Amino acid sequence: MPSFYIDQHGCAKNQVDGEEIASRLLDAGYLQAPSPEQADVVIINTCGFIEDAKKESINAIIDARRSWASKKIVVAGCLSQRYPKELFDDLTEADGIAGNADLSLLPSVIDRVLAGERVLVCPPQPTVMPAAHYRRSTLFDYPGTAHIKITEGCSNHCSYCAIPLIRGELRSRTIDDIVAEARSLLDRGVFEIVLIGQDLGNYGRDLEGRCMLADLLASLGAIDRDFRIRVMYLHPDHFPLDILPVMKRDPRMAHYFDIPFQHASAHVLQAMNRRGDRTQYLDLLARIRDALPDVMLRSTFLVGFPGETESDFEELLAFQEQAKLDWLGAFTWSREEHTPAYAMKPRVPASVARQRKARIEEMQQSITSAQLHRFVNVVDRFIVEEAFEHDDLCIARGYMQAPDVDGVTLIHASCTPGSVVTARIIAINGVDFNARLEYTRSP
Ligand code: SF4
Repeated sequence: MPSFYIDQHGCAKNQVDGEEIASRLLDAGYLQAPSPEQADVVIINTCGFIEDAKKESINAIIDARRSWASKKIVVAGCLSQRYPKELFDDLTEADGIAGNADLSLLPSVIDRVLAGERVLVCPPQPTVMPAAHYRRSTLFDYPGTAHIKITEGCSNHCSYCAIPLIRGELRSRTIDDIVAEARSLLDRGVFEIVLIGQDLGNYGRDLEGRCMLADLLASLGAIDRDFRIRVMYLHPDHFPLDILPVMKRDPRMAHYFDIPFQHASAHVLQAMNRRGDRTQYLDLLARIRDALPDVMLRSTFLVGFPGETESDFEELLAFQEQAKLDWLGAFTWSREEHTPAYAMKPRVPASVARQRKARIEEMQQSITSAQLHRFVNVVDRFIVEEAFEHDDLCIARGYMQAPDVDGVTLIHASCTPGSVVTARIIAINGVDFNARLEYTRSP
């Protein structure tokens, strides 16, 4: 049978789609090649969220065609879903364009491409989530970790965001469906399950008109196994406070939140179609820290949004100083067509936006460094991601470190990837920890 290779771009949600595509192709009898050189078909699973990501994906398609003139190139993912016709008409490097609304169509797309046809398959996003949608037999995470996508799409309609255009309106999976998938992942040796979606604070709102995340966590907590649950991406305007007691009761729930505040000036937040302000957001952080004193907090800020004045930016800096977030990513606004913000004015010059981003990043370096010091001497459990046998060194993650986005923990010991070890943090090393092994649990 012919073989495929998936060149993965974008976020963890797109990674889950890539895993699903790989599983569908394996089910159809295709072979998964270990490198693009060894594959008959290279599938580029693209991101289409902001300008830089779009450029990266398009460059990957062009590079793939230049590198492998005789291979079939199929473009999948968010960029295909957002610009299907444009890609099909203009990107002659691609043999097939497939959207992400129905991943079960990918094997037939590949069949047709291999038969010599140039294919465009991009149905619109469905309005409900099919039951038992995800059945991934292959995972792209480090051993011992897996992401579960619990929602698809988003109905918040932040004015700068193209996600509702690409992924459609919010659709939630049922609790039973998610718990069944979690059980099957645990049976396969996964230790950390990372729950993702565009905004988990809306999980279930389309099903029952309310956030059902606390119910979901309680149901996952009823699984009688040793594992860790991590919850990512909770919109600050409807953070579900009822998850805090559930998480406090169960030590398997990582006390870690990624709350993308984006800004702290009410004026900018309103223009972004968000509702909060600096006082409300500081109050939210205080309530979370009060309930979970060991909580680790990540956020993202978006600067250079149309209409952001110097005083709006100063307000954001003041919030940053007071909030003392542990991890923070700063981004400049990307002018995305068909979003409400596209036409907004006055636009902030790109050079000013870049300077503002740099100021945020500079201030965060010292905040993160100071925040991390509270972990020196803490003994905790870490999942080993990579091991370097010759150096007796491994890279691991604790509850305070989410996959891919945060610092890591370096443990000077020989450990097996996927195993869970107990270690004592002995020093801070930039954004990483150095830790000493205390004992090991086999994968
Ligand atoms: S909540 Fe996130 S994904 Fe949803 S519209 Fe806003 S920025 Fe986009």
